[in-house]
Amino acid sequence: MSETHYHHLRDLPSRHILGTGTPMCAGCGGLATLHQVYDLMGEKCVIVNGASCLTLLSVYPYTPFRGSWLYTAMACAPAGAQGVRDGLDILKKKGRISEAEDLEVVVLTGDGSAYGMGLSATSGAMDRNLDFLYLCYDNEGYGNTGQQFSPATPHAAHTATSKGPKGYPGYKKDLFGIWAAHQPSYVATVVAAEPLDLARKIERARSLTGPRLILALAPCPTGWDYEPSATVEIGKLAVQTGIWPLKEYVDGRVVHTKIPHPRLKVEEYLKAQGRFRHLFAPRENREMIAEIQAGVDRYWQQVEQEQEQPRS
Ligand code: SF4
Repeated sequence: MSETHYHHLRDLPSRHILGTGTPMCAGCGGLATLHQVYDLMGEKCVIVNGASCLTLLSVYPYTPFRGSWLYTAMACAPAGAQGVRDGLDILKKKGRISEAEDLEVVVLTGDGSAYGMGLSATSGAMDRNLDFLYLCYDNEGYGNTGQQFSPATPHAAHTATSKGPKGYPGYKKDLFGIWAAHQPSYVATVVAAEPLDLARKIERARSLTGPRLILALAPCPTGWDYEPSATVEIGKLAVQTGIWPLKEYVDGRVVHTKIPHPRLKVEEYLKAQGRFRHLFAPRENREMIAEIQAGVDRYWQQVEQEQEQPRS
């Protein structure tokens, strides 16, 4: 593993290069993630933006991006990235641009694309070993159209299409595991509330070539029903309760970059959000809360067991 340049918060970029005054909701965790990633990467990249909330950042002729961007449909951002990467490579080969003028290709989508509609295009891009970085801001639903459930929605959450006493009956898809099964260059989970961890992972991802995923939990005040000022607190609770494990896959190994200790009860995270209010009122649904806690406990028990096993 390479040495990091980010040891303290003071090592992080001290100014935002993404313009202000965007149409995103106040407290948007996806926008907070993009700010941090864009500051770290700089403007020498092409953002290939699959339709999502953050598409509103690139509505002609206004955009806060300083460099290039391309807007695609939900399912095909990795295909758009292939076209951009090929175009840049051809320009370099013909001597029309120099190595120094080359641009990094970054796919930016929400979870609807990354976990669902765009997964086949993503899998194909990994099969072709496309050199790109995929940034998914995961707000666990189709936020742009009113927070219908997506394949990233957690069990029991209320969404526009999963109301009722039990909320969403399905379970969040393991996108980290799906990517890792393709054996790409890099896969990592991040959250904007942990900016040092995020910066180190962007640094690591950029030191590699090939397909690389940065999967960011993106607390969403509008869809998750909480006050915009609580976005950082909710991001931290996701990590402290173990609901959102911070980890990375590199060289065929999964490493957890932050192990919550002591691990808070999942209630701390759930009760802070209106989308889980039905688990606490009018009556506490102990059975469903216990089921969610058991799933998190199982995950971390498995992590501990794997850590105890001697490495061959
Ligand atoms: S709906 Fe959620 S993800 Fe979309 S802009 Fe608003 S806060 Fe951000």
